[in-house]
Amino acid sequence: MAVQTQATGQVRETVEILGMPVDRVSMEQAMERIAGFVASKQPQMVVTADSSGIVQAQTDPEFRSILEGADLVTPDSIGILWAARRKGKVLPERVSGVDLLDRICAKSADKGWRLYFLGAEPGVAEMAAEKLRLKYPGCNIVGTRHGYFPGDSDDIVAAEVAEFKPDVLFVAMGIPRQEKFIKRTIPIIGAPVAIGVGGSFDVFSGKTRRAPKLIQKLSLEWLWRTVMNPRKWRKALALPRFAWLVLRSR
Ligand code: UDP
Repeated sequence: MAVQTQATGQVRETVEILGMPVDRVSMEQAMERIAGFVASKQPQMVVTADSSGIVQAQTDPEFRSILEGADLVTPDSIGILWAARRKGKVLPERVSGVDLLDRICAKSADKGWRLYFLGAEPGVAEMAAEKLRLKYPGCNIVGTRHGYFPGDSDDIVAAEVAEFKPDVLFVAMGIPRQEKFIKRTIPIIGAPVAIGVGGSFDVFSGKTRRAPKLIQKLSLEWLWRTVMNPRKWRKALALPRFAWLVLRSR
């Protein structure tokens, strides 16, 4: 377990999963850290790490160094909790991108945080924003944009987003594209918090249905999503590899 103090003065405790640091945080603690990042006004990056992302980092040096340099890496899957437990390090709970987005929207209504949604197919981020404004009246989503643009337009898109001066930028373009976008453009955008949130806009817009509550409780939402969405099958194939690498590691 590594313990260090961050630029914001907050104490950070991480557990290494296949060489990647994952923060030992509950949802509540993650929210406290994020509130500290917003207050600091310095750009900070949050990654929600799931098992397939950790597997990708093993063979993608750019993504690996992004994970190593992130300011907060939350445990986004049950596989990460399992891998930590095998090392005798208990992580309190899953802190997923979907749940973080929901909590931050609720907080934005109280604190006036400016939120920007970048990613997903045209119309989806706007639909997600509309639904969240209804769920949390006062939730301050200041702008949305779809995530289908070529990589060589990253800086142009970043300049557009920067005009909205977001406190928290959510990027939903899939792992690791979203993290690479954030790393490259955060100096342009300057948001105190930038988080990759995968398919979250699809979930909140209603494009993807969340699993029934019982399946969520059993931590089997990933299985539900995989069955419902063939695009996820490739991701699911990373899970046996993750398990194998964890079982093999000391
Ligand atoms: N997406 C995007 N731009 C792209 C490719 C994907 O905005 O160039 C969006 C896609 O529409 C979806 C999200 O990125 O909303 C990826 O969702 P997924 O659940 O596959 O992400 P994961 O967290 O599994 O990587």
